[in-house]
Amino acid sequence: MKHWCLNNHWIFYRTLVLKILHIAVSSGGGGNFKTKNKLLTTMMTFNNLKIFYSVQQQFKPFSFIAAICLVLSIILTIQTNGQTPQKKVVMISLDGTPDFLIDKFLKSGVLPSNGAFAKMKKNGAYAERVLPVNVASTGPSHISIFTGAPPAKTGMVGNTFRKSDQSWNSPVLSAFRQPIAVETIFQAAMRQGKKVMALGGVGLDNSSENRKTDYLHMYPVNSGPSLVMDLIPTDTIVKGKNDQNFRKLKAESKSPSQPIFEIAGSTRMPLYIYSTDSVLNDANILHPLAQIIIDTDSDLSNGYAATVDSESWTGMAVEKNGKQYNTSFRILKVDATAGRYRLFMAAPAEVYGYPSGFLQKLQSGIGLWPGEPENRKQTTGLVSEEIWFEQIDRLAKYSRDLVLAGMKEGNWDLLFGYFSTLDDVQHRYTLTNPRQIDYKADNGSRPAIYGAYIEKWFQVIDRYLLEIMNAAPKEINFVIFSDHGMIPIHTSLLLNNYFEQEGFNVSNAALTSVSSGNSAHIYINREKVGDADYDSYLTRLSQRLKSLRDSVTGKAIFELVANQQEQIKYGLYHKDYSGDLFVSCKVGYTISDRYLPGVHYLVQNSFDPAMFENQNQATKNFLLNGTMNETGRAVHGCLATVREGQSIFYSVGPEVPKRKLKRISSLQIAATVSTLLGILPPADSEGKSVF
Ligand SMILES: [Zn+2]
Repeated sequence: MKHWCLNNHWIFYRTLVLKILHIAVSSGGGGNFKTKNKLLTTMMTFNNLKIFYSVQQQFKPFSFIAAICLVLSIILTIQTNGQTPQKKVVMISLDGTPDFLIDKFLKSGVLPSNGAFAKMKKNGAYAERVLPVNVASTGPSHISIFTGAPPAKTGMVGNTFRKSDQSWNSPVLSAFRQPIAVETIFQAAMRQGKKVMALGGVGLDNSSENRKTDYLHMYPVNSGPSLVMDLIPTDTIVKGKNDQNFRKLKAESKSPSQPIFEIAGSTRMPLYIYSTDSVLNDANILHPLAQIIIDTDSDLSNGYAATVDSESWTGMAVEKNGKQYNTSFRILKVDATAGRYRLFMAAPAEVYGYPSGFLQKLQSGIGLWPGEPENRKQTTGLVSEEIWFEQIDRLAKYSRDLVLAGMKEGNWDLLFGYFSTLDDVQHRYTLTNPRQIDYKADNGSRPAIYGAYIEKWFQVIDRYLLEIMNAAPKEINFVIFSDHGMIPIHTSLLLNNYFEQEGFNVSNAALTSVSSGNSAHIYINREKVGDADYDSYLTRLSQRLKSLRDSVTGKAIFELVANQQEQIKYGLYHKDYSGDLFVSCKVGYTISDRYLPGVHYLVQNSFDPAMFENQNQATKNFLLNGTMNETGRAVHGCLATVREGQSIFYSVGPEVPKRKLKRISSLQIAATVSTLLGILPPADSEGKSVF
């Protein structure tokens, strides 16, 4: 025991000395940023006793005190070598989780007192509220959380955006792909000798230096459409291995989809689908068995790709052009007598892992990527609500199992996991505002039914978090956060349609909007609007936006209409990416950036076709095909000050002090993780550690 205390003193003194050195360095002990950073890195590496030789070279630009401290640090490090417990952090993002709902559910008992959130609140640190960045949407928020820097520095000014020098007709850029201008927590950790593992986390795909980690399971990218196939028997019987007979099936002419596995719009692979022919059951009676065989080539004698039983999901992995794709199948309907089936295939997605074999190692234990829930097909009725929730369930389990499997891989210091569950469920089922068109549906009971769905999935995620925490070794510190909250929506605003109506000529490519939920950047085409006209055009446009009113209440729809100068104070102005104008709606509205002639620019949104059956066809098509952020019952992408859009921060573990924090910024999360990990924060982090 005495020995332990002694070593704890050594650790304390060494930490103190390192702190003094850090202050000496960061308070401008000489040298430019790069040199300082180099010394800091060296200092942290000293902490691990890996490098000794460059001490002298690093002394020069710094004060005498710093030099003494460095020497002391080395001596003390030698004394404590082998005694310092390895600091490990698991960061988990719960996409779209608003703090007010966690508080409400904890208070009402929806979230149990022995659950993960209750335990974190009791034993760890949590923030009463977390201010996300402007724009509080998945891409910009996550990248700002990773870097500790606002969109003005990261460049991710929306979920999607344009670059000032891109050609007008080229596709918009994505915050999930575009190179990030500053260092992430993952890079900072790797630079300081830590090993980083990212598991299904958004925005990390090894595509550029700032999106890399040592170990990676990329968040899969959908590469083709999901399919709903109505299959009927043919006369063709094919023999497989062991002389088993298979009957070839084909898609009916009226089938919603044909059996084509599509990859990135270019590769189209036919799927060969068979049913197992009649078999004898226990009573020795011929009995049709609902089982389907799927193959990607026409030869069954070399085996096949998937066997689908009734009422359960089956995954299928396809390799094409050196890339891996995962999908899964589910029989939706069976007419056994006629041998007909309705078969669903989830949207195929490219799965990618790093290093070689890592993805396969994880998937050998937990199965294939199950795919995202099928929103549009639920809206159109091709996929039932029940199947949609099965997809939610499978994806949530996969996300949990990925973290559980990843944690068992020994060689990491920082692990990042991700759950989209609560974002998905709230987008679809938030029904809390009386102005929402569904609010009185089902004799007024729909809000309660949907509310119960949301409660259930908060409970599930709470349980999964607890399972992860219980499975984790004692030395692990957890940081649980979200990127944004959720705002109930009653009206979709088709901004480009409004521009066109007001004579701003979207159809002639004079301007366009690029939306991130209920905010949007507006870009003016400078080839169409010359320098001489620009200022007056911008003023006119700004005025028209400010005067846009809700047809029911007569009140302004926008909370903010900001030119580039005004975007600066929102941390949003980036010279390459920001729009000429930026707009953000008040609570209740979301923005679609599609230009759809025939649709009024204000549409009451819903995912229930019964709610919009009296609309014209163009409006129906818009509502049937809307994305979660265009026509969702709740969206994100608001300003940081919007209460419902604010996010969560919870932390628990051996290094985490028990603390109730009032209001923190999401820019503090990267620095906080750095503190728990015993490293210095990312180079451009503006936020300071909350501890
Ligand atoms: Zn999100």
